[in-house]
Amino acid sequence: MKEFLRTKGFKMTPQRELIFRSFFELEEHITVDELYDKVRILDRSIGYSTVWRNLKLICKVGLAEEVNLGDGITRYDRVTKVPHGHLFCISCKKLEEFPVEQLVGLLAQTAGDKSFTPENFKIEIQGFCEKCQKENANDSKNGEDDV
Ligand SMILES: [Zn+2]
Ligand SMILES: [Zn+2]
Repeated sequence: MKEFLRTKGFKMTPQRELIFRSFFELEEHITVDELYDKVRILDRSIGYSTVWRNLKLICKVGLAEEVNLGDGITRYDRVTKVPHGHLFCISCKKLEEFPVEQLVGLLAQTAGDKSFTPENFKIEIQGFCEKCQKENANDSKNGEDDV
């Protein structure tokens, strides 16, 4: 990682190393707040803006990317070799991943048919997860609408 950053022209400081390590240890799709909480447990001297700046840096060097799902919260996703799609629950904000190799093949072919060279694919499905569907069904049964 140190070597990798140096080739990109960045220094690896102990704080930066801690932030990077924490990011790659966490679950996928974390927010700045979630990363900040984790980093603060390990080193209370690291400020919010330092965490935010380093997260931006992780994106800049191509190891992560921002995911915006229209709910005003920016999540950060590790960049993986295999592309994946997102299933986003608009009720509980759960974000799940699914493999998209077959879809990407189809999309690449569609792009090729239009003489377009694709660089990047975003496949996102928004809706309600299983749990929220059940909860919604229960709510309407009980006649409650406190959603
Ligand atoms: Zn993802
Ligand atoms: Zn849900």
